[in-house]
Amino acid sequence: MKHTDKFLLAGVIGYPIMHSRSPMMHNHWLEKNSLVGRYVPLAIQPAHLEGALRGLHPLGFSGCNVTIPHKQACMQYLDELSPSAKAMGAVSCIHAREDGSLFGTNNDSFGFIRNLKASNPNWRADAGPITVIGAGGGSRAVCYGLIQEGAKEIRLVNRSFEKAQVIANSLGPQIKPLDWSQLSESLNGIKTLVNATSLGMVGQAPLVIDLSDLDKDALVTDIIYIPLETDLLKTAKARGNPVTNGLGMLLHQGPLAWKIWFGIEPLVTEELRGLLEKSITGQ
Ligand code: NAP
Repeated sequence: MKHTDKFLLAGVIGYPIMHSRSPMMHNHWLEKNSLVGRYVPLAIQPAHLEGALRGLHPLGFSGCNVTIPHKQACMQYLDELSPSAKAMGAVSCIHAREDGSLFGTNNDSFGFIRNLKASNPNWRADAGPITVIGAGGGSRAVCYGLIQEGAKEIRLVNRSFEKAQVIANSLGPQIKPLDWSQLSESLNGIKTLVNATSLGMVGQAPLVIDLSDLDKDALVTDIIYIPLETDLLKTAKARGNPVTNGLGMLLHQGPLAWKIWFGIEPLVTEELRGLLEKSITGQ
């Protein structure tokens, strides 16, 4: 689809937002596809969320991505939700349609699974039990994606046990909610370990976890991408486990948003990955 008569507009709504690497990624794609337009960071405080969403169409935005703290709160203002957004109880991408209505979907689970498969071609969700740490918005996408991929047992460990229970109740019997005190024992015999908490992210405390009971062939992944290599990934790598960082999750959910907004599927290239890595490491 060619867009010669329109200045394309999209953005990411969150608060705070300036840490987001989404503008760099989407503006790279606009340039690579020779399109005139801009993808902008939109720092929207919770009190202004409804007004900002209602303004998307009149201002000429094709849509936006949604990040913390609006992924759940935005749902009440949308006219239609995709089955994945309904199942995950969160929206990561909004399409401001030609008729002015707002459609919400969630591409995070796709990005998570595509990232694991791209970096570990032999990885399978049904290869054995999986431990997921954390029960926030990111974890919902992770658990949904793993179930869609055929995971049979997901041990979901969270500091607030009741939040893990809520996810288990909404996503299915494959999810076994566990208390934080069961973290170490949850690693017994698993094939995949996912950190979906904010522990380990820049400015946050590290995730303290004893990996002694973890099989050496278990894949360890973190959905955090700042830093690129969290302490968890460093420790896992040092003992010989395969590891995957969270940057690919961000990269691989992007093309789906473009398909909805602009009818084009841009490429996740090594050049783009390198650009984002450089902006994160500063090297
Ligand atoms: P969230 O909804 O706020 O959830 C945060 C999670 O971290 C909750 O499970 C919370 O436990 C846990 N947590 C926070 N502090 C803790 C502590 N001191 N001890 C134990 N657990 C703690 O956040 P989110 O949206 O899921 O995001 C989580 C991380 O994933 C962030 O770093 C975010 O940037 C990243 N993320 C990356 C991508 C990507 O594309 N790569 C996508 C989404 C998110 P409680 O429930 O007990 O509070």
